[in-house]
Amino acid sequence: MTATEHRQTVNAARKRLHVITWGCQMNVYDSGRMADVLSPLGYAPAAEPDGADMVILNTCHIRDKAAEKVFSELGRLRRLKEAREATGKRMILAVAGCVAQAEGAEILARAPYVDIVLGPQTYHRLPEMVARAARAGGSVIETEFPPEDKFDHLPEASAPQGVTGFLTVQEGCDKFCSFCVVPYTRGAEQSRPAASVIAEARRLVAQGTREIMLLGQNVNAWHGQAPDGGTWGLGRLLQELAGIPGLLRLRYATSHPCDMDDELIDAHRDVPILMPYLHLPIQSGSDRILAAMNRRHRAADYLRVVDRLRAARPDLALSSDFIVGHPGETAADFEATMDLVRKVGFAQAFSFKYSPRPGTPAAGAPGQVADAEKDRRLQTLQALLREQQAAFGARCVGLTMPILFTGKGRHPGQIVGRSAFLQPVHVIGDSGLIGQEHMVLITAAHPNSLAGTLQQERLSA
Ligand code: SAM
Ligand code: SF4
Repeated sequence: MTATEHRQTVNAARKRLHVITWGCQMNVYDSGRMADVLSPLGYAPAAEPDGADMVILNTCHIRDKAAEKVFSELGRLRRLKEAREATGKRMILAVAGCVAQAEGAEILARAPYVDIVLGPQTYHRLPEMVARAARAGGSVIETEFPPEDKFDHLPEASAPQGVTGFLTVQEGCDKFCSFCVVPYTRGAEQSRPAASVIAEARRLVAQGTREIMLLGQNVNAWHGQAPDGGTWGLGRLLQELAGIPGLLRLRYATSHPCDMDDELIDAHRDVPILMPYLHLPIQSGSDRILAAMNRRHRAADYLRVVDRLRAARPDLALSSDFIVGHPGETAADFEATMDLVRKVGFAQAFSFKYSPRPGTPAAGAPGQVADAEKDRRLQTLQALLREQQAAFGARCVGLTMPILFTGKGRHPGQIVGRSAFLQPVHVIGDSGLIGQEHMVLITAAHPNSLAGTLQQERLSA
């Protein structure tokens, strides 16, 4: 997943709320839901923190120096809060997300001007926390994993998301990979009931969304309550969602190789609107390191899943996550990763230097790899992955493919959309086409995008 920063950009009503979001798409989704729960209290999104009645910093703890980055941003927000308070007005400052979960007490000790610290499982309690903070003037901290399910307590109505909508169906993780904070910050695996997912998907489509990305830390571990009281897996859920009129595309992320069951693999064959692109992290190609990572699968298991997926959907493009320099990784282990990459051939991938996360087993493990060696391995791996991505892009040139247009491009007259393989595609075209799927002849491949020309045929209503 990419580390991104999003700021909500619609302007104010009665009270102004500015949300700063760091990290994965699940955080972006959570930020939207926090804005939704605060909307009945009169909070409307503000483009800037300056002058806002409330600022939420939604944080990510997955990699380097997460806490330091938060304290530095809080220092900046403190100055805005003090300037506002000097005019007799209040700014409620909240820290949410995985850093809040992991370092809540530390945040209040080092930044006592923070009013609210809330973990990812407690967003539905935000209105109550805001009321308590407003009343008491002291700080409120909610980082327990509450007994009730936050999915059951978030409001039904949500703000429109645009052509692509994100929908969280699963949270948390029970897998405890050696390097990862998610099981500690997001808690145990929880699946949202199918009926609630389908209802939200229908609402999104009614609001203009044409492509839905189902989200979860381990989305394919989803096992939700079915409308008849039984349990469905993700394959079945995708089949149901595919029946929503007006929905053109479905995707899901992020998946664990061990949770790719038969029904889900079959969905790649049987659900035409399930896009032929899958993010399936492996982390390492070495069985020794996969065992040290507690990944519960070997490289050969991953390759078998890939073969079965490609048999089901021959044009499937694959993406993955890799970590180099996990404790104990030797040059031979790293070579095994390079071999696996050559065997699979990825259309895209994300790769990271191992970064010790306090409290995880790998952080204290022997055999920590020197930083310079991690850098060297990362560069070597990324060069190969870049080469594969470029080759995949080059193979698209000359093809005519369906593109779902999602917004305006950077240049005048340009619009941008996504291919089935998630590549951004730029064309010259009318902005009235946004939200529609059209055939495009791909004319050029750039490192991270494609360019093309619109063909006559329109595919979607
Ligand atoms: N659930 C997914 C899986 O099983 O692969 C991954 C979710 S994790 C939020 C996203 C990615 O961050 C991981 O796939 C991993 O590559 C990377 N990551 C997590 N912890 C890391 C660490 N301590 N150092 C470097 N990269 C890390
Ligand atoms: Fe983290 Fe993914 Fe492993 Fe869960 S399966 S512990 S989210 S890397």
